[in-house]
Amino acid sequence: MYLPVGLPGLMARPFLFVLQNVLRLLADCDKVYVHVMFYFWNAKLEAKVIHGSCLCGAVKFQLTSEPSVMGTCHCSRCRKAGASTVVFVKKDDVVWLDGKDRVVTYQPEPPYKYGRCFCDTCGTSLGEILADADSFPIAANALDTPFDLKVQFHESVSEKPHWYEICDDAPQSSGHPS
Ligand SMILES: [Zn+2]
Ligand SMILES: [Zn+2]
Repeated sequence: MYLPVGLPGLMARPFLFVLQNVLRLLADCDKVYVHVMFYFWNAKLEAKVIHGSCLCGAVKFQLTSEPSVMGTCHCSRCRKAGASTVVFVKKDDVVWLDGKDRVVTYQPEPPYKYGRCFCDTCGTSLGEILADADSFPIAANALDTPFDLKVQFHESVSEKPHWYEICDDAPQSSGHPS
């Protein structure tokens, strides 16, 4: 930068020095602020995403927000399907990462209506992950990311096998809750 010589120039040097450093500091503060904002933004996003997969790894998906409801159905059908404990998710929250075409659906005979989804290779139960409804249950066992939710209810307790003991205080109903 051109600096005039003489007294004004001499006075200008410290002024410019201070000005430069103030500007540099502000720029750094700005960077720090941006980094801090990104950190919290990413942490927020990171905290929300729940990863899910099947046993063989062919099927991978994620949930963009944590499920809010978890329950266990003790009926023989859910037990055989390997999806007794489920979480309810919104369809819009399910993001497919891999293997959606590897998911097969067992559509039961009426009066049963809910299609049960499985990986076509390893058979991991995925609940109703391909359902058309706005929200549906998916098998909690397919989720990989830890989250705080615990079983909030037990249904079809009258069909519970003798060998399984309920060891929590969640409300129980003999049939499906209304
Ligand atoms: Zn699989
Ligand atoms: Zn059931």
